Amino acid sequence: MTYIPEDSKALPYVTSTTDNCLGKDCPDFDECYLLKARKKAMNADLVVVNHHLFFADMALKDTGFGELLPAMDVVVFDEAHQIPDIASDYFGETFSSGILLDLCRDIDMACKTELRDHPQLAKTADKLATLVKDWRLLLPEDPQKGNWRDLYQRPDQKLALSRIGDVMQMTYQILKSSLGRSDQVDHCYERMAQLKSRLEKLLDVERSGISFWYETTKRQISLHYTPLSIADKFAAVVADVPRSWVFTSATLSVDGGFAHFTREMGLHSAKTLQLDSPFDYATQSLLLVPRYIPEPTDKQFGAALLQLALPLIEQNQGRCFFLFTSHRMLQWMANELPNHTNLPLLVQGTTSKRLLLEQFVELKHAVLLGTGSFWEGVDVRGDTLSCVIIDKLPFASPDEPLLQARVEEAKQQGVDPFAAVQLPQAVITLKQGVGRLIRDVTDQGVLVIADNRLVTRPYGEVFLKSLPPMRRTRDAKQAIEFLQQMHAGSPT
Ligand code: SF4
Repeated sequence: MTYIPEDSKALPYVTSTTDNCLGKDCPDFDECYLLKARKKAMNADLVVVNHHLFFADMALKDTGFGELLPAMDVVVFDEAHQIPDIASDYFGETFSSGILLDLCRDIDMACKTELRDHPQLAKTADKLATLVKDWRLLLPEDPQKGNWRDLYQRPDQKLALSRIGDVMQMTYQILKSSLGRSDQVDHCYERMAQLKSRLEKLLDVERSGISFWYETTKRQISLHYTPLSIADKFAAVVADVPRSWVFTSATLSVDGGFAHFTREMGLHSAKTLQLDSPFDYATQSLLLVPRYIPEPTDKQFGAALLQLALPLIEQNQGRCFFLFTSHRMLQWMANELPNHTNLPLLVQGTTSKRLLLEQFVELKHAVLLGTGSFWEGVDVRGDTLSCVIIDKLPFASPDEPLLQARVEEAKQQGVDPFAAVQLPQAVITLKQGVGRLIRDVTDQGVLVIADNRLVTRPYGEVFLKSLPPMRRTRDAKQAIEFLQQMHAGSPT
């Protein structure tokens, strides 16, 4: 099987979007795999899709321009803790230089074929493309993310977007005057109308309850607005048609209750049920919160983490996930570890997630270093994964624009942002990471959370109460002994 890296340049060329699909004009319309799959789904009694497709369908139905999924009587969401973030994206809007450049290219193409008598349109599209590229050059080449409300205060940004807006308006008018000449022209007109309206929304930065943020890659800049809460919108969706909704996940509860999730989702009259785990955590696992480790902000933290991890990794002969909250620490450890161990190391980012996991299982004694995507949705059962080391409590970076906006909003409402936003989010993420260890009734292993704040800060109690009932120790020697006995076939 061939694997395509997640950031492969080939992917945009095999991705169908509302902007690039030619629909009935496509020469491959009758053979199209995507349309066949959609048709099958429309006639099925049971459809299994990921969260993104569900919300894409909802967004499409909202516009009245189509649908991807059939009408449903029952909706079951697994991994429901992910919904608030994923749904926020679909209830928001994006405007990117890339989408606008694609449109300029398609208009140029139309001018070379169906609109040869419209040299003015080609020139305008060309000018628009130049303005868009210049706009990206206003920011440094290295990718960055930040608060769009703040950036838009800069005069050079205001000027660039006002020029882009003017030329978009001009192009829109010319396309409008050519409506009906061909489907391609009509399609370009619709896309321009849509982009104009998106840009207007993204420049109206005074609206409250919304996070305005931007992101750059080496070549592109994109603007986003994301609603801070989906509660009202989701409540309206649930109230719209009578149907049953089920939300399940091993990590929906915080501090033993579902209030955080139901509030975020606007599920005011939901019935909740917490089921006990079939795992005997107290026997199957041991949690180590090491006693003598500096705070994560301390300069010595990386070296101390390495010293802590090495004997555990060696004792366990690999079979270990080393999970990080930042790429910086992951890279540091990926550079250091080979100087101290001969065990095979697999590092996130070197190839696709799926291939890394296959190698991890195949190698049997590997150490996998990962961030974000390895904290959840990874299922390695048995002896192959019997040690999980987490570098620190996964509080989201305070630079994250969406988090900043949610914190700001909580403050305005007189609510403690740490208790209402940051803490529950970190608890859910930690529970996900912890959940990688015990995947079966026969699994055993050691979990290490190398963050003293679990015991030194009052909020540590909320984390501990939310974790499975593992036996705990502060002594690394006990963890090594647990692993020793575990592999000798007599777990303690
Ligand atoms: S109809 Fe199918 S093959 Fe044709 S452009 Fe759309 S997605 Fe691609």
